[in-house]
Amino acid sequence: MDILNSFRKEQTIAYFSMEIALTNDIPSYSGGLGVLAGDTVRAAADISAPFLAVTLISRKGYFRQEITSDGWQKEYPLTWEVEKFVEPLSPRVQVVMEGRTVSVGAWAYYWKSMTGGIIPVIFLDTNLPENTADDRQITDCLYGGDRRYRLKQEIILGIGGTRMLQALGLNVRKYHINEGHAALLTLELLQQNKKRLEEVWSEDQMWDTEAVKNFCVFTTHTPVEAGHDKFSYDLVKQVLNEPIPFLFLQKLAGNEDLNMTRLALNLSGYINGVAKRHTEVSRNMFPGYTIHDITNGVHSFTWTSNPFRDLFDQYIPGWAHQPELLTRVDIIPDEEIWDAHQAGKKHLLAYVRDTGGGDMDEDTLTIGFARRMTAYKRPHFLFTDTERLKRVRRKGDFQIIYAGKAHPQDEEGKRIIQTIYQYCQSLKNEIKIVFLEDYNLEIAKKMVSGVDVWLNTPQRPMEASGTSGMKAAHNGVLNFSILDGWWIEGCLEGITGWSIGPTPTEKADPAEQSREEIDDLYNKLEYIILPTYYQQIDWWIKMMKSSIGKIASYFNTHRMMEHYVTEAYFHQAALPPTKGTMLIV
Ligand SMILES: *Cc1c(COP(=O)(O)O)cnc(C)c1O
Repeated sequence: MDILNSFRKEQTIAYFSMEIALTNDIPSYSGGLGVLAGDTVRAAADISAPFLAVTLISRKGYFRQEITSDGWQKEYPLTWEVEKFVEPLSPRVQVVMEGRTVSVGAWAYYWKSMTGGIIPVIFLDTNLPENTADDRQITDCLYGGDRRYRLKQEIILGIGGTRMLQALGLNVRKYHINEGHAALLTLELLQQNKKRLEEVWSEDQMWDTEAVKNFCVFTTHTPVEAGHDKFSYDLVKQVLNEPIPFLFLQKLAGNEDLNMTRLALNLSGYINGVAKRHTEVSRNMFPGYTIHDITNGVHSFTWTSNPFRDLFDQYIPGWAHQPELLTRVDIIPDEEIWDAHQAGKKHLLAYVRDTGGGDMDEDTLTIGFARRMTAYKRPHFLFTDTERLKRVRRKGDFQIIYAGKAHPQDEEGKRIIQTIYQYCQSLKNEIKIVFLEDYNLEIAKKMVSGVDVWLNTPQRPMEASGTSGMKAAHNGVLNFSILDGWWIEGCLEGITGWSIGPTPTEKADPAEQSREEIDDLYNKLEYIILPTYYQQIDWWIKMMKSSIGKIASYFNTHRMMEHYVTEAYFHQAALPPTKGTMLIV
């Protein structure tokens, strides 16, 4: 039976994302953005939403990470057997780039929920015999290559993807642009909704921007100007020619460069940031646009460890499809919460041992840090003052587990990994520190359910949302983080976890702020976290329960999807911007 057939009968939401993390066997993701996309698909399947996703096949994945003995990251292709995991689709569509026609094919993966819901994920692929050798590789490497390569990928995703959905006979209600990478789909929609010259007063008016806006939902994820995806118009002209008249394109996408965020902002009827704070930052960065906030979530069932799944099944039946029920966590006896946690910890420590990290003690406070290794995330912040760190250690034992990949072109990120490696060595007589290679979905799951404290130390306001701390909370792991992104909304000091440093409304010069943050980090570790763990286990377990009851019940993709459905997908853009958000910067 053709699963897509049932999708042809109604209007669907088409979610476009450069990366999607579906399973560990399909490495078409790099990090948080892809995991969010995957969790979105999972939540859509649970509620049988008329929803599908479009992405690139990424035959060589992002990369496999190995770390040399001197701490330097090496990247290897993560080639996967496409045919084993996805089903071929017959249509071919064409896009023109650099004056040649490139043919685009597609594969489908059907994500199946335990509720019976199915969500198709369409993987675009240019590896077809009719294409030139170069063109066959356009969809190979996620975030690889130079600007030209990236632009070609984004043309395939945005323009090729839109044409593919039409070739498949699908009827799209909304195009959800998940981050700027897919924004070129707006140009295709402009072409398709073009008015005839006789109907309008001027050539510009042939382009029905209002019609396109009605079709588009845009979620921005980047809180700093430098992070936005841009292409020089020289390059755009060489590769894409002139999809719409150049002057008009500049009006929509920026004067100097083609800014994918601007393009999406100008052609989307509903725009949102991914946490309240990030939305404020985006409003300041892009005055004049109505930007809503829908805080990210994680897929509860996916990110809950087996021991906690069993426990929740027993005491809170139905939690997986109604994670708001997790507010009832207090009915679970303390010992059972602790046992489930220790089971997750043993599982992680066994993995550490099996991968050569040596023995770690299951009764020692264990701190986890895993995410993209890049400067703004400050992964080595904990080592700012190693003498102080050693003094803290003398008050109580703790051990640390790290993981994360640096983008292949991010030299600074790689140096940070090397720095952490050096601390593993130089501190090894005082503090046990391990770095797990090749961070992926499976390692993430082990870590967020196997450590005691989940640490996050980003440079504010660069963490748009962050989601790994939400995963930790589902497993009773306590967050200890800078007040940025989602944690501003999730943190109840001493109840759901602990903050690091000043509150988000306090302004200080950056050096002063860092000092306050590092001071707070060491102080809380020494005077609050270690004593609570070793001497007040009852309070610790109470906090674990608060973390599940107050964080997991809300910061999940079921709640997030509900917001997208009611605000973005099935309502028109006329909604006023959300007022009464918690902070004004
Ligand atoms: C959740 C997740 C991320 C995102 O982590 P953040 O701390 O939110 O940046 C990145 N990579 C993997 C594999 C994940 O599972």
